[in-house]
Amino acid sequence: MKIGCPTEIKPQEFRVGMTPNAAQEAVAHGHEVFIQAGAGKGAGFEDADYQAAGAAIIDTPGEIFATADMIVKVKEPQAAERKMLREGQVLFTYLHLAPDPAQTKDLLESGCTAIAYETVTDGNGGLPLLAPMSEVAGRLAPQVGAYTLQKANGGRGVLMGGVPGVGPAKVLVVGGGVVGTHAARIAAGMGADVTVLDRSLARLRYLDDVFGNVFNTGYSSAGLLAEHLTQADMVIGAVLIPGAEAPKLVRRDQFPTMKPGSVLVDVAIDQGGCFETSKATTHADPIYEVDGIMHYCVANMPGAVARTSTIALGNATMPFMLALADKGWKQACADDPHLLNGLNVHAGQLTYYAVGMALGIDV
Ligand code: NAD
Repeated sequence: MKIGCPTEIKPQEFRVGMTPNAAQEAVAHGHEVFIQAGAGKGAGFEDADYQAAGAAIIDTPGEIFATADMIVKVKEPQAAERKMLREGQVLFTYLHLAPDPAQTKDLLESGCTAIAYETVTDGNGGLPLLAPMSEVAGRLAPQVGAYTLQKANGGRGVLMGGVPGVGPAKVLVVGGGVVGTHAARIAAGMGADVTVLDRSLARLRYLDDVFGNVFNTGYSSAGLLAEHLTQADMVIGAVLIPGAEAPKLVRRDQFPTMKPGSVLVDVAIDQGGCFETSKATTHADPIYEVDGIMHYCVANMPGAVARTSTIALGNATMPFMLALADKGWKQACADDPHLLNGLNVHAGQLTYYAVGMALGIDV
């Protein structure tokens, strides 16, 4: 199979869909790999690294899309890329279609077969291709939140760990899945007083068993959330309803009950955001203020640590990418129901129920 990996064109996205190690594995399996010149640069991989792995370097995205049977990327295809997709071509990347009707329409019209990283599953009920990026975004969230809390950045001027004689910041994490757990771990490691709210009692039990008193846990009711909001210096939004738009859990009319200069970090912004006032921002201009409350809502947080993220994502996608290339998408999905769960679009048909529900399209 001919596998193509273009340079990411979404603003401030420095990751790349294939590492030289992934390219080397694909070549060893008998496939041809085409990497766009400079595609790996943002993640610290040179064209020569890919050439040494046996890949061909191609100058333009047009040539990559025209040549490849399968496109392997990181972010959802942008409008210019969607025009280059064609019937029968496999697209393997993050899509996040539920809040994105324009992309969904273009993918349906292209006739391509689009397999979304974020809906591929594993045997433990997890999302193995979302997990590594969730780990990164979760660990990054307290770091960017702590920066936003600094006075010069519009925040309350509170130090995460406090100092002897001064208490630590209070951090509320809403959603105790992969993002939330990693965020809570790092925030607690920075010395903050951390509480994690989740709707799953099983998850709360797990967190309590594994982390003990490192952070507190609570059941995510509207009442308890409202109570914690009044105390929090930082709220990290980390909820997920797979494939669906995020529920809006904090409303603007609650801001007067919060401390001025407190910080909302909406990691769930890639699913539409879980705070009413969230709108996606970029690494170039990540922070904005609404009614005295600071917001950080970067939709591609892992791009900030592109090298760590690229290698972590490559570790997770590689076996699926190889299965798709070795067997073709039909056989690979027939053999692996977890990969089949990644199928969102095929030949003009939407194939993922929660996306259809969100967008009102028949599945
Ligand atoms: P996950 O499935 O591991 O965890 C989500 C958790 O939210 C679950 O434990 C679930 O029980 C909980 N939940 C659902 N509804 C809730 C509610 N009303 N109150 C409290 N908890 C609730 O998902 P994840 O991997 O941790 O991802 C979380 C979000 O972060 C997703 O939207 C994901 O797309 C996003 N994400 C964003 C970035 C970024 O760069 N912005 C990067 C990675 C992941």
